[in-house]
Amino acid sequence: MHNTALITGASSGIGAAIALGLAKQGYHIAVGCHSSSSVERGGRGVAESCRKLGVSAECFVADVSDFSGCAFLVKEVAERFGGIDVLVNCAGVTRDGPIARMSEEYFDEVLNVNLKGAFNTIRHVTPLMMKQRGGAIVNISSVVGLTGNRGQANYAASKAGLIGLTKSVARELGSRGITCNAVAPGYIETAMTDAMPEKAKEAILSTIVLGRPGTPEEVADAVVFLVKNRYVTGQVLVVDGGMAI
Ligand code: NAP
Repeated sequence: MHNTALITGASSGIGAAIALGLAKQGYHIAVGCHSSSSVERGGRGVAESCRKLGVSAECFVADVSDFSGCAFLVKEVAERFGGIDVLVNCAGVTRDGPIARMSEEYFDEVLNVNLKGAFNTIRHVTPLMMKQRGGAIVNISSVVGLTGNRGQANYAASKAGLIGLTKSVARELGSRGITCNAVAPGYIETAMTDAMPEKAKEAILSTIVLGRPGTPEEVADAVVFLVKNRYVTGQVLVVDGGMAI
């Protein structure tokens, strides 16, 4: 069985919408889940919804910050589905705080999940894609990776790092038929943004040209485009309602 997409952070929010968006395109879906509780809280439901669309879908548990855990994840998915054609790195965390008081632990945690996590999966998936002579990788960055943001030095650095990773992988693997792009969402309504204080939400809303938050499905549409289009690589597609024009 081929035409398989592995999406990390797929048990909730944007990752869940990407899983469904790719399932609608006929991809079999490996629902990457952080832990067994992520499977219970959302992953299982996402896999069920994908199966209702007529494709195969299963949950796979891995902490993306764990290099050997990602090797095992890729091996398991490839064995189950016969290959991996699409990789979407969507797992991410925030640990916000002012730079003058940010702990080393917060900095390392965010970099390890958001940036090293993407390296870990790409590192293990690319030998497979090279053998297949094709594939599509999409990394979920953020507009703050382009603009920076107060209180998010760790997060913005990780998301900017993802853009450098994306462009380098695109240059390195283009000759093998592998594309690598990033999507940079703005303010999207999910559990991650629900946790923000009301005042901060209002301040952000006032900067959005289209005057409303985005939906996870609108980010998923951008990912589907980058997966299907075979002549776009190394790009950052900003999906932010005009926030960072
Ligand atoms: P979310 O629902 O919190 O999604 C984050 C996902 O990452 C969760 O499923 C989480 O699983 C998973 N995750 C966290 N740590 C992990 C780890 N170590 N290993 C594997 N998976 C891990 O929030 P979201 O808004 O959909 O975010 C998805 C992505 O979009 C993130 O990369 C985020 O930075 C990016 N983004 C979001 C926005 C926005 O406005 N929402 C804007 C720009 C970019 P558990 O919850 O089970 O730990």
